[in-house]
Amino acid sequence: MTAILKKALMGAALSMGITTTAMADNNNSKFNYVVDRFADVEVLRYKVPGFEDLSLKQKMLIYYLTEAAITGRDILWDQNNRYNLQLRQLLENIYTSYSGDRNSADFKAFEKYLKQVWFANGIHHHYSMDKFTPEFSREFFDKCVATLPASKRPADMDGISRVVFDPGFMPKKVNQAEGADLIVTSATNLYEGVTQKEVEDYYAAIKDTTDVTPVSYGLNARVVKKDGKVVEQIYKIGGLYSPAISRIVELLGKAAEYAENDKQRAVIEKLIEYYATGSLKAFDDYSILWVGDTGSQVDFINGFIESYDDPLGMTGNWESIVNFKNLDASHRTEVISENAQWFESNSPVDPRFRKPEVKGVTAKVITAAILAGDSYPSTPIGINLPNANWIRAAHGSKSVTIENITQAYDEAAHGNGFNDEFVPDAAMRELMDKYLFITDNLHTDLHECLGHASGRLLPGVDPDALKAHGSTLEEARADLFALYYLADPKLLELGLIDSPEAYKAQYYKYILNGLMTQLMRIEPGKDVEEAHMRNRKLISEWALEKGAADKVIEYEVKDGKTYIKINDYPRLRELFGELLGEIQRIKSEGDYEAGRDLVERYAVKVDPKLHKEVLDRYAHLDIAPYKGFVNPVYKPVTDAKTGEIIDIAVDYTEEYIPQMLRYSHDYSPLTKE
Ligand code: ZN
Repeated sequence: MTAILKKALMGAALSMGITTTAMADNNNSKFNYVVDRFADVEVLRYKVPGFEDLSLKQKMLIYYLTEAAITGRDILWDQNNRYNLQLRQLLENIYTSYSGDRNSADFKAFEKYLKQVWFANGIHHHYSMDKFTPEFSREFFDKCVATLPASKRPADMDGISRVVFDPGFMPKKVNQAEGADLIVTSATNLYEGVTQKEVEDYYAAIKDTTDVTPVSYGLNARVVKKDGKVVEQIYKIGGLYSPAISRIVELLGKAAEYAENDKQRAVIEKLIEYYATGSLKAFDDYSILWVGDTGSQVDFINGFIESYDDPLGMTGNWESIVNFKNLDASHRTEVISENAQWFESNSPVDPRFRKPEVKGVTAKVITAAILAGDSYPSTPIGINLPNANWIRAAHGSKSVTIENITQAYDEAAHGNGFNDEFVPDAAMRELMDKYLFITDNLHTDLHECLGHASGRLLPGVDPDALKAHGSTLEEARADLFALYYLADPKLLELGLIDSPEAYKAQYYKYILNGLMTQLMRIEPGKDVEEAHMRNRKLISEWALEKGAADKVIEYEVKDGKTYIKINDYPRLRELFGELLGEIQRIKSEGDYEAGRDLVERYAVKVDPKLHKEVLDRYAHLDIAPYKGFVNPVYKPVTDAKTGEIIDIAVDYTEEYIPQMLRYSHDYSPLTKE
């Protein structure tokens, strides 16, 4: 549950118009970061600085790992919804063969819908989880379908039409509403024909609660009913998604030939074994090897990892990120990691809940080379894995910040007018311009390297005791740890920041985002659902309420516009510390009721009036609330005479639609007849 630092975390930062003079690459100022814009989405591209400097062997390793990454795309599409792959094929067939007026309103609406579906890896919004609403007519769609040869129409045309046009059919990818049967009411394809109770009973029966090194039950399984019995369909060679997994394994095998060292080769081989057997024990062994491989420059994740999209938080969505260490920028996180014990020992939580010994917190800054599966096009900006609690406790975890992605966000957001609209105080705007990029990076480092790794459960406490609220509370814990320490003089002492005022820029942005600006991502009338957004709202609303008597944080209304005013930063830091103590207690003791009360009271419900105002002001700015990326294209360069690969070239020119169509054409092991 701790996991990947989801795209949401950067929230407002991405749209804050941060000045990144220090980061700007003046040698290549013509690099065009913005690729496409539609609906609520902006598509960017990112640079892969330093790739050229890698050895040919490392480039070959990355090349095969990126091929393996893109190859898993269809798995995620199918996990998201059982109609997704059929529908994508149909939409792409219509799109590429359409002979009518491509400027007509219907066709433009069709293109927008297809772009949305591509971006979300399916028919549901990647973030809100709501099904997309087509803005083209049913007649237009039926006409387009009728012009296709029968071989290019999906087998279940009725189901496809229904899922596109009936808003009441599969309306939500993941339903988290308390009280409902979360499996029956969720449209993901992780379960079929089973109720929440049946699944919970199934796992309760096979879970050995006395096992101190439990496997991650359900991580690589679809659960269905067969002959009246609940059974798992395992994702593996010979199992579910076999054609895709077999091809991934083939490419991993090629990558292994170029491994930088024996440890890395062992990691790849163990992953292959896991894919071949579906054994969750093999996955744990792989995770332990992966954590232990800290010496390689190239690294990757590839598999069923994060379970945010499973209503029960068990099954992993397929994803892959291939990356290599950014040696210069890693210094910052190394300093933080080296001091992990100091941070743990001084944290404002009950000593009973602290880790007496913080183990194996590694940290580095990486450069992403490819984003795939659930990390594409919308992507995390950090990674903290593995997720299994006992592996983290016994073997540590790896934590990274993906700085070429954060840099691309910041470059693209520069000067978008956001700060002028929402930050009335010129001095604060200046402080943000100066310190937001570095404090954002530090926040991410502290959240990932220390926050998730901190604290411990009391003996006998079930790691899943907080159930559906576990993700929100875990993210809150990590954020609070980061917020608390951002204001600590220790950061100055360690040379990580050069001003005792810098943290205020981050505090202001965080509260502004948690109370107001993140609401731009929510549709009118809807609740806050996503774990990271809930976490930010929880923290901000709680601090607002608890500090109300001392006016620590205030709303200020000027000319009908609401602003945030923070009057007492040191007190706000104390409040962050108090809430961290309480949430750590809740986690350590497995206090489900207290955790649920915090989430239900502070994190979910939206003030409709403020919400409307934020949406209006935001609409005026015309900034896309969601961003994602196209990948660069890696092309082997061969020697004309020998045919040998002598280099891997990086090309940044591919646009959004061509990339999506190329991926569907070249990397679709599950849809090839
Ligand atoms: Zn996190």
